[in-house]
Amino acid sequence: MMNILLIEPSFPYPNKSKNQAGEIHRNFVPVGLLKLGALYKEQGADVKLVRGNIEKSDIGFVPTKIFVTSIFTYWSKCVWETVAHYRLLFPRAEITIGGIYATLHHKRQYFKKKLTEYRSHCHVGLHEEAEKYNPDYSLLESDVDHHVTHAMRGCIRRCSFCGTWRIEPKRYDKPVEELVDEIKAVGKNKVIFFDNNFLAHGKIMEMLEGLANIRISGRPISYESQSGFDGRLLLKKPMYANLLKKAGFKNVRIAWDSSFAKHRSIKKQIDVLSNAGYCPKEIAIFMIYNYDTSYETMIRKLDKCSEWGVQINDCRYRPLNAKYDNYDPRKYKAGQTSEDYYIHTKGEWTDKKIRHFRRKVRRHNIWIRYAKDKGFKYDRNMERWSAIRNTFKYYGMGRPSRFALIEKSPTRLNRIRMMNKVKNYNTKKSLPSPDFSDLTKPEIDKKLNLILQEIS
Ligand code: SF4
Repeated sequence: MMNILLIEPSFPYPNKSKNQAGEIHRNFVPVGLLKLGALYKEQGADVKLVRGNIEKSDIGFVPTKIFVTSIFTYWSKCVWETVAHYRLLFPRAEITIGGIYATLHHKRQYFKKKLTEYRSHCHVGLHEEAEKYNPDYSLLESDVDHHVTHAMRGCIRRCSFCGTWRIEPKRYDKPVEELVDEIKAVGKNKVIFFDNNFLAHGKIMEMLEGLANIRISGRPISYESQSGFDGRLLLKKPMYANLLKKAGFKNVRIAWDSSFAKHRSIKKQIDVLSNAGYCPKEIAIFMIYNYDTSYETMIRKLDKCSEWGVQINDCRYRPLNAKYDNYDPRKYKAGQTSEDYYIHTKGEWTDKKIRHFRRKVRRHNIWIRYAKDKGFKYDRNMERWSAIRNTFKYYGMGRPSRFALIEKSPTRLNRIRMMNKVKNYNTKKSLPSPDFSDLTKPEIDKKLNLILQEIS
């Protein structure tokens, strides 16, 4: 019998990505591995998925084949550490590395050398056979409430900084009926599309109509597109926005990676979404920075977003050949250099400018979310409250009290401190959040104390 070990390296997902950024990023699911798992299970194999480098005794079998996934090129170190670890544990297993980083770097000399060093192979691009399967979510340690899928592969555009069209050079549009059947078969009420350019699907109108009509357990589906929507397509066909709203798409995003001069077009795209029923503060704009547009111009773009009342999803540029990224957001004062992470000096970016821009975006988003509508200005306590709110959200505990009340209560402050410690530990270890439902406040404190004793 074949034993298949699927491995997601312990990627250093930033906390922000997992818990804050408009929901999507916390939904990282190694979807390629889950599809491979489904394929091998159907062939009768024993399949196990693990995260990070774990002990041999915790695996429970000797694998015949090992598949290691990869994401960003700048997390390459993590991938090779994982390969080294499992090569040592299982000298006879066949190891294959796949995913984005492997696809983008497989032709490089250093990559080939490492493959030889660890007697491993590389899978380039999509795994055509596994693509036909739905992800087997039962392989995950804890269930996820959403289904991850693609309506299409490839992209109609060729943005200079983007790797997706290199990874998926062939366009493929999933037939509408197939997608609808898949969502029904998986049976989850939340679906996240990992498409590169969702609206470019050849039968987009038909598809959105189809998605709107699906019911799981009598309830409609909540949809989200990870990459946002192509604003130029929205301008050409504003009815797409109405169909997106009707289908139940949430957390809508568009991108403004072009020059400041395009602001009129971006405003029109926002208006198209607003006219379809999306309130501006629910809309976010992806903006690449640390790239060719200067800091000063990025600030002008940010000011426009303030005027329009929309949020910003800032994306720090790293080139596709970057093999590391040790940017540390806590080093605001001390600073870092291009030895630590990529700084786009061509666009006159500096470490200081990068940190300033990030801080401004964070403050802008908090202001949009909690204060603009009420006519208030940003203040630091708002940011502290927002962090507490994210902690509450992680535990599914609803809305915290006002910051002024929390601040005056040592008991509450202590509880929040403990909650943060447990949250950070669990996030790092990819563990589910503890269940505090039905517990009184003293019981929550007791439980937190117990968990902290266990993990200390
Ligand atoms: S539209 Fe998006 S996915 Fe397509 S090439 Fe540009 S950045 Fe990449």
